[in-house]
Amino acid sequence: MLNLILFGPPGAGKGTQSEKLIAKYQLVHLSTGDIFRSNIKGGTELGTLAKSYMDKGQLVPDDVTIRLLESEVNKHPNAKGFIFDGFPRTIAQAEALDAFLAKKGQSISVILSLEVEEDELRQRLTERAKSSGRPDDADPAVIQKRIDVYKNETLPLKQHFTAQGKYQGINGIGEIETIFNALCEKIDKVKNVVAK
Ligand code: AMP
Repeated sequence: MLNLILFGPPGAGKGTQSEKLIAKYQLVHLSTGDIFRSNIKGGTELGTLAKSYMDKGQLVPDDVTIRLLESEVNKHPNAKGFIFDGFPRTIAQAEALDAFLAKKGQSISVILSLEVEEDELRQRLTERAKSSGRPDDADPAVIQKRIDVYKNETLPLKQHFTAQGKYQGINGIGEIETIFNALCEKIDKVKNVVAK
């Protein structure tokens, strides 16, 4: 199985690149942000809870998020692999994911990190607000909060992944196609190892 984590700050292009990657590699795309948003749309209890954090740019609590992710993985027993997009975002989530996959005899193949500087993120998210309809893109204070939460709670994962020898940084600034090709190059290397 090919299990990828697409890592990076809000606005780095994880969603855009995920769409292209699932088409090429036939992986199941799991975006915790998308799942929360569809729960908000559907008016579920989980949606109401998630919204109360998302609207402020805060993370949804680990226990809720981990349970959700695990149940989504379990919905796809025949998957060729997964793209985890926006998960894990904390050390606790990363450890839970490793343990959960290990129980299934699986593991994360590689962490692909889209690296984009902060000014560019702010610009992209402000631009995205015009079409995304996302309340968390529309408010500059919430955008800043999300970037700060990323730096404080999520970025420490870089060290965790590097220690596992699985972290691959990719320049997330440039043409979508150029970035996609850089991601594919990294994936194909890992794929060859997985296939051997
Ligand atoms: P995203 O679509 O990945 O930008 O996520 C939007 C929002 O959903 C985040 O700002 C968080 O409030 C929440 N969220 C998404 N994924 C997670 C996660 N793995 N852990 C906690 N909160 C998350």
